[in-house]
Amino acid sequence: MRPRIALTTTRGTVDHNSVELVNRAFVDAVVRAGGMPFVLPVLDRGDAEDALAAADGLLLTGGGDVEPARYGGPPAPEIFSVDPERDAFEVALVLAALRVGLPVLGICRGCQVVNVAMGGSLVQHIPTLTGRDHCERQRDSQPVHEVDVTPGSLLASVLGATGIEVNSLHHQAADRVGVGLQAVARSRDGIVEGIEADAPARLIGVQWHPELLRGDPVQERLFEWLVTEAARPLTSSRDQLSDVA
Ligand code: MN
Repeated sequence: MRPRIALTTTRGTVDHNSVELVNRAFVDAVVRAGGMPFVLPVLDRGDAEDALAAADGLLLTGGGDVEPARYGGPPAPEIFSVDPERDAFEVALVLAALRVGLPVLGICRGCQVVNVAMGGSLVQHIPTLTGRDHCERQRDSQPVHEVDVTPGSLLASVLGATGIEVNSLHHQAADRVGVGLQAVARSRDGIVEGIEADAPARLIGVQWHPELLRGDPVQERLFEWLVTEAARPLTSSRDQLSDVA
């Protein structure tokens, strides 16, 4: 069976009905990498570990801002699309995935969620900090800035590169990096563009959108890494954890 990759969703409204939304590009990227994607709706945070019992890997997708109260400080005026229930569920998913030993790839908001889950904080609005706009929606599938990746990092080995060009559709990024995480990629204006967990955890977060850079073999490797890791044995036993619970 192909490795099952859970995709998190953005909650929205269509024809007055509440719906769960996921950009098709995430689905396609996982399929191209050989995985079996499935959509994991926002659930109660207490459901996180049960939800992951159906998954071999976790892909945290993009979306609105994490509620600033989660990492301290009053919200900046530019904060948008906050969904505290989604935040709570996704933070619980990250912690459960690490506990159980599942591989995790966080993209854009997903990278920020990982950092917050591990006790890190976020830059609430990048232009206020660096004067550079990292949200270039008109060129969402084109490289718009360079990223330097730390030599010797997991991310560098996955990408097979230490200098890449990426798209940029975010206005937030990791500020204080969470416990057990390392900042392993930065833009030239100093923004954290990639994080990873210390071994043996299998977790990478990137601030750009590899799923929209279709056809770039370097970017496809991120999804191939997730699917390959998802096919490997867990780093701890799910059965043992359920026994403890
Ligand atoms: Mn950027």
